[in-house]
Amino acid sequence: MGARRLGDRTVLVPGSPNTLIVETGEGVLVVDPGIGEGRGRLIREAAGGGRVEVVLTHGHTDHLAATVELDARVVAAHRLCIALVESSATRRALVYGGLVSAKTAAMPMVELRVHRVLEWGERVEDGVYAVALPGHTPGHTGVLVEDDGVVAAGDAVVGERVLQRYGIPFALDARGWVESLSRLERLVERGYTVVPGHGPIASGERALQMIEANRSAMERAKRLLSELISTEPMTAAEAAYRLTVRLSRSEPSVRQLLLNETTVTSLLAWLEEEGLAEPVATERGVVWRAARK
Ligand SMILES: [Zn+2]
Repeated sequence: MGARRLGDRTVLVPGSPNTLIVETGEGVLVVDPGIGEGRGRLIREAAGGGRVEVVLTHGHTDHLAATVELDARVVAAHRLCIALVESSATRRALVYGGLVSAKTAAMPMVELRVHRVLEWGERVEDGVYAVALPGHTPGHTGVLVEDDGVVAAGDAVVGERVLQRYGIPFALDARGWVESLSRLERLVERGYTVVPGHGPIASGERALQMIEANRSAMERAKRLLSELISTEPMTAAEAAYRLTVRLSRSEPSVRQLLLNETTVTSLLAWLEEEGLAEPVATERGVVWRAARK
């Protein structure tokens, strides 16, 4: 599917992730160029010449790798995502819960300089704002195009089919991620069209359904996790395996288990904060059990 216009100054280049092109006075802002050979060329064509600059919702490889092919500068990323964009080691460590090898990560080791540090609420360009949607990563940011009523939501929400495939949405901070879903909901209620990183764009009732499906997927993972550790104390890695088999349609591969373990670790922290789980040091490693009241 080719590029299509969403408003006077906003063009969608569909993909996984989706890319938004926002026209400015002097050129365009490209939100999340994406990944894959030819992606940069495709975006350049859709941008139609002029100055091209990149804004990132967050510092994950699949959202930023095509910046290299696009031969553009990253003009803005949130303060809390800078290390993810600039260091492949930090990125790998925060996605996989430790520094895995390049081979295990199976992602290009792209590292980019960020030329401007964003704060939430800040104006990126005329009529373009950075909004707080943290959780997937600490600095995860929505990019809001006010005139066109469009928000690039990055991985703050995913389409239902992607959700079903993975079962457990990735979040470094699951609690923060769920809280951001409510912020996104308020934007939809104000009439904004949501462009998720992965999945079809949606507005109105359709967008609210997508957000609700995301919320209930994370709540289901949390509830199952709580049940699992109540039945049998286990490590985060063991819990990640059980949840992956139960909830996901994708293979419990090394990468998938490491990713899910990161989310599970944050769900365990959430349960601990609520007084529902506690960690114990054992020969097997840190084992989690239901908290004794
Ligand atoms: Zn991501």
